[in-house]
Amino acid sequence: MENLEYLNEHLARRGFKSCVVSDGQEALRAALNIIGTGSVGIGGSLTVREIGLYDELKNKGNAVYWHWTDGADAKRSAAGADYYVCSANAITREGVIALTDGSGNRISALTFGPKNAILIIGKNKIVADEREAFMRIRSAECAGANAKRLGVHTPCAEFGKCDDCTSPDRICSVTAFFERPSKGLQNTYVILVDRNMGL
Ligand code: SF4
Repeated sequence: MENLEYLNEHLARRGFKSCVVSDGQEALRAALNIIGTGSVGIGGSLTVREIGLYDELKNKGNAVYWHWTDGADAKRSAAGADYYVCSANAITREGVIALTDGSGNRISALTFGPKNAILIIGKNKIVADEREAFMRIRSAECAGANAKRLGVHTPCAEFGKCDDCTSPDRICSVTAFFERPSKGLQNTYVILVDRNMGL
C-alpha cells in the first residue's frame, strides 16, 4: 500500500482525482459511487471485467455501452457517455499514465468525448518511468498475452518478443502518455488497486 500512497500523491499533484483501494470489490464500490446514475462507456479491459462493473451497472439501470458485450458500434456510443471506464497498460511511480491501442478508442476517449473518465489500475501496472512503461507495453506479459487472448498473429504472441511488427494484426498502433488529465474532460478519476489486475 505504501507505494500506492506515494503514487496517489503524485496523481493528485498532476490533477487526477485519485484514490487507493485494497481489492477489486472496493474498486467496484468506488467506481459505482463516482458514476451514480450516469451513462457509462467501457473500453476493452480485463480489469473492468474482473470487477464485474458491466453487470452491476446493467442491474442498477444505468445506460452502458461496451463493445465486448454489445458489438462494435458500442465503441462510438461509449465515446459520448457521462463516464468512460477502462484501465491503463502502465503507470509510472510519478503518475504518468500510458495506454496503447490498435484503434485508439481508449486513448481518444480519455482525451475528448465523454464528460469524465475513470481508470482502474492494478499495482502490477506500476513501472519506474516512461521508458519502462514503453517496454511493459511491448512485453510478452502485456502485448504478447493480449495478442494471444485475442487470437491474433503477432511476433509478441507467437515468439514472446516484440519486433515493432508491420502485421495487420498489430495491437499497439497508437500509444499515449498522459502527464496530466486532458482538459477535454471534466474529471479523470484514477482508482489504484492494491492487487494485480488485468494484463
Ligand atoms: S509491435 Fe507487433 S510484435 Fe510488437 S508488441 Fe506490438 S503487436 Fe506485438
